[in-house]
Amino acid sequence: NDALARAESLIDLTPDYPEPGVLFRDISPLLADARALRDVCEALAEPFRGRFDIVGGIEARGFLLAGYVAAVAGVGVLPIRKAGKLPKPAAAVSYELEYGSAAIEAPGVLQPGERVLLLDDVLATGGTLAAAQQLIRDLGAEVAGSAVVLELSDLGGRAHVGDVHTLFTARES
Ligand code: 5GP
Repeated sequence: NDALARAESLIDLTPDYPEPGVLFRDISPLLADARALRDVCEALAEPFRGRFDIVGGIEARGFLLAGYVAAVAGVGVLPIRKAGKLPKPAAAVSYELEYGSAAIEAPGVLQPGERVLLLDDVLATGGTLAAAQQLIRDLGAEVAGSAVVLELSDLGGRAHVGDVHTLFTARES
């Protein structure tokens, strides 16, 4: 698919960021390009068309994808936030990082059984997306699906998140 190949070419690579040995992927140039943004958001949502009621975006780049996909689908957005940012978190899930742990939270805005499509930019170890899936279930809602722009395939994240729709795949470094 030429349109998606073009979008993939707009992902910026930075070696040794945020620490030595990490090759950081930044989708900012892709987000800034109207055609790439549209092509990627359409492709993210395509397998789930008509099967979700709201789009959950994972902070921070997931917010941008979720807003676009929700607007096109005519549904609302659920911001899934890093811990400590929401005045009234309705649920929180902690997960392990390479060093230490992190947590994500969501506001209490979901209806019981509401079908949430989860979006993020990058799937690495899968800890963040797995926590987001648990968060949705803890809120009494349903995960309609999960989709990411880029999967770093050698980190094994897919094993922790069940079915995930991935547009691009790369090695970690
Ligand atoms: P995981 O929890 O799967 O290890 O890491 C995924 C989370 O960290 C995602 O929210 C993603 O935005 C961020 N992340 C991990 N690696 C990268 C990267 O190379 N580039 C970007 N933009 N985000 C990353």
